[in-house]
Amino acid sequence: MEKKRIVIKIGTNLLTKETPAGTVGLNKKYITKISGQIAELHQSGNEIILVTSGAISAGAGKLRLKGRPKSLPEKQSAAAVGQPLLMAVYDECFQTKNISTAQLLLTREDFENRRRYINTRNTVLSLLQQRIVPIINENDTVSVEEIQFGDNDTLAALVAIKVEADLLIILTDVEGLCTGDPNRDRNVKCINEVKKITSEIEEIARKTIGSDYGSGGMCTKVQAAKVATTSGVETVIADGRKDEVLKNIIEGKTTGTRFHPQEKIVARKRWIAFGMKTKGMIMIDDGAVEAITKKCKSLLPSGIISVEGEYSVGESVSIMDKANNEIARGLTNYSSNDINKIKGKKSGEIKKILGVCDFEEIVHRDNLVVL
Ligand code: GLU
Repeated sequence: MEKKRIVIKIGTNLLTKETPAGTVGLNKKYITKISGQIAELHQSGNEIILVTSGAISAGAGKLRLKGRPKSLPEKQSAAAVGQPLLMAVYDECFQTKNISTAQLLLTREDFENRRRYINTRNTVLSLLQQRIVPIINENDTVSVEEIQFGDNDTLAALVAIKVEADLLIILTDVEGLCTGDPNRDRNVKCINEVKKITSEIEEIARKTIGSDYGSGGMCTKVQAAKVATTSGVETVIADGRKDEVLKNIIEGKTTGTRFHPQEKIVARKRWIAFGMKTKGMIMIDDGAVEAITKKCKSLLPSGIISVEGEYSVGESVSIMDKANNEIARGLTNYSSNDINKIKGKKSGEIKKILGVCDFEEIVHRDNLVVL
C-alpha cells in the first residue's frame, strides 16, 4: 500500500479518565493501546505526526483539582505540570516499540510568522526523515488569547497543511459526524462520507454539544476538516476507542466520517508565491533554470550567479534567469550574506565556507513555486 504522511489528533476525552477521587488522570491503558496502533502504521513505512491534547487534564489530576481548571493561569500551570507527564507516557509506550518521539509545543505565532513557520516545518520534516514520531501540543503555558489556537483540532489541521500531509485523522469519543447528538439520542446515524463541507454539514455539527474536558466538540472538528480539505488534505473524524480504527481508516474501510479533499491547491505554495513579500532576488544560470522548471529540483548554490537585496533565513526571494525574468519564488534556507559566500559552489563546500551546513539546498523544492 502507498506510504502516507498522516497527522493523528487525539482528544482529551480519550486520553484522560476520571479517578474514584473525582479528579482526572491520564488513561494509560488507552494511550498504550493507541500508541500500539500508531507504531504499526509507523513500522509499515508511513510517516506519523501526533497532535495530542491532555496536558491540562493530566496536570489537573496531579494537582488534585476537581474538574478542569477555569482561569487562564490555572490552565497554564496545569498544562506546565501535565505536559511532561503526558510525554513520559507516550515516550514509554513508543520506547517499547523501539520508536523515538519528539516534543513540539506550538503557538499561533509559529504559523503566522513565516520564519517560524518554515523553521518548525523543517524541524518536523527532519524528525520524520529520522523516523522519529513528532508529538505536538499547543504551548499552553505561553498561549494567551491572541496567540491561542484554542483547540487542538485547529492546530492539527494547520499542522497537516504545513507538512502537506496526505491524511488528517481526528480521534474522538463519538462515532463521527452524526445526524444528531449521539450522547442524547441513540437513534442518530453517522454520516460516513462528506464530499464537500456545505453550510448544511456545518449546521449539523453545530447541533452536537462539546465535551466536558476537551475544548473542541464536533463543531471545531468539522471546521478543522474544512481547513484541511480545502487545502487538499483528506480528513477522517472517527471513534478512537474502536479496535484497529487507524488501520481501518488507512485501508479505506468505512469508519467514522471521511471528508474528501478538495482539489489539491497546495495552499502553502500559494502563500509562498502570492501571500508573502519578496525581500530580494537570486539570479541563476541556465542549468539551474532547467533543473527548477523542468525537473522539479531544488535550487543549489552551484547554479547561483548573483544575489540582490538583504534577507535572512526563511524569507521569500524571487528567482530570476539571466535575462532578468522572474521564473520562481521560494523561501530561502540561507541569508543573502551567506548566499554571496557560497554562490557558484558545490553543496559539499558549504560547511567548509560557512562553518556549518544545515541544508544542501538554498531553496528546497517544497518551498519553491515555479511561476
Ligand atoms: N492543549 C490542551 C491540553 O493539552 C488541549 C486543547 C484541546 O482540548 O483541544 O490540555
